[in-house]
Amino acid sequence: MLHEDRLFPSDQTQRAIARRLYAEVRDLPIVSPHGHTDPAWYAGNEPFPDPATLFVVPDHYVFRMLYSQGVPLEDLGIPRRDGGPVERDSRRIWRRFAENWHLFRGTPTRMWLDHAFETLFGVTERLSADTADAIYDRIDACLKKPEFRPRALFERFGIEVIATTESPLDPLDHHRRLRESGWGGRVVTAFRPDPVVDPDFEGFAANVEALGGLTREDTTRWDGYLAALATRRAYFKEFGATSTDHGHPTARTADLPRDEAARLFEKALLGSCTPEEAELFRGQMLTEMARMSLEDGLVMQIHPGSSRNHNSALFAAYGRDKGADIPTRTDYVHALRPLLDRFGNERDLTVILFTLDESTYARELAPLAGHYPALRLGPAWWFFDSPEGMMRYRELVTETAGFCNTVGFNDDTRAFCSIPARHDVARRVDCAYLARLVAEHRLDEDEAREVAVDLAYRLAKRAYKL
Ligand SMILES: [Zn+2]
Repeated sequence: MLHEDRLFPSDQTQRAIARRLYAEVRDLPIVSPHGHTDPAWYAGNEPFPDPATLFVVPDHYVFRMLYSQGVPLEDLGIPRRDGGPVERDSRRIWRRFAENWHLFRGTPTRMWLDHAFETLFGVTERLSADTADAIYDRIDACLKKPEFRPRALFERFGIEVIATTESPLDPLDHHRRLRESGWGGRVVTAFRPDPVVDPDFEGFAANVEALGGLTREDTTRWDGYLAALATRRAYFKEFGATSTDHGHPTARTADLPRDEAARLFEKALLGSCTPEEAELFRGQMLTEMARMSLEDGLVMQIHPGSSRNHNSALFAAYGRDKGADIPTRTDYVHALRPLLDRFGNERDLTVILFTLDESTYARELAPLAGHYPALRLGPAWWFFDSPEGMMRYRELVTETAGFCNTVGFNDDTRAFCSIPARHDVARRVDCAYLARLVAEHRLDEDEAREVAVDLAYRLAKRAYKL
């Protein structure tokens, strides 16, 4: 299923160069500085239960496509909030998935899954209604073997370090168990404060109260609240965190006088913010987080532009992260200005920007990252974590921001077995891009080799301080 020249240019000159560059990076360790794998996997090291639970149920790329073509989420085993009945037979879920495999033609999901099926489980036939059972049995038999447990796969994938993402309210018990287990795999946490800095987050006031309980700070007061956040960040650093992660609807930042911020905070706790005030509060919190990052060294990631839980009925029935997050237009130039006015020239601060609004790459993001010392540009992300998306990214940003204002690749995934595939796609596309620059005599091949290693490995380590 996997051609060795996949994703390389079809032009023979460029293809030959791409092959040579790829040979330099193919086997480099994986650095995964941003993702959403479950730390319980590494801590408990229990076998993954079955193929459907591994590949279908947790992967919103998979079930959003199936849902769009009329497959109900119940039929795919996605749990309902009300505990109502859903399909529990993994084989039946798998068959439904297999008979709809044609829906994934031309999508990165198809490439990632083919890569996992073939390289991990030795599957050489295309998935279909006819092959569904045989492939299920083959993967299922593998998953029962010790070499397919999470830690063994982690090692087989060549992961040097992986970051998970946790709420400030998470006790980080899995990370503690992991550390106490003595296993050598490096798994670090990342600080994702959305539940306690976003007045629109479900249970915001209760979350802030819980934050006070965890830190013994009076989080009904602005100063106590900020102190609690700083305390929690320090706690996350003890478990290896080198970064924070902010999933705001926009890139809006603010730098309000202290009293005004405190008043806004009180309103947020009371649940009486207007939508504009909630947005202003989130913006203020990004600037507060940047201030804390300058103090404690955590790298800050801002990935705005997702209109979350767009499908209200689906959200009501199944909750968040069910494939109904839709990209929306995003402004960076004006939205980031308050934060940049205060911290943009700091060389000891790193703010990594992501986008779901591709129209901003060339117009806003590359010029910003190509100027402000505090800014870096995150990789082609989410809907653009794809061969076409990555190529457009390089073409749109490189001439203005160069390579060193970017931060390599991150897989941002919940789907464990897709990690090697995703990094491999990124490495191949970057080599294809560099091959063109070499073929057009815009870059010498020895320099391209150096850049290829930067993009695959060194930039992520440097930017995320890993
Ligand atoms: Zn993420």
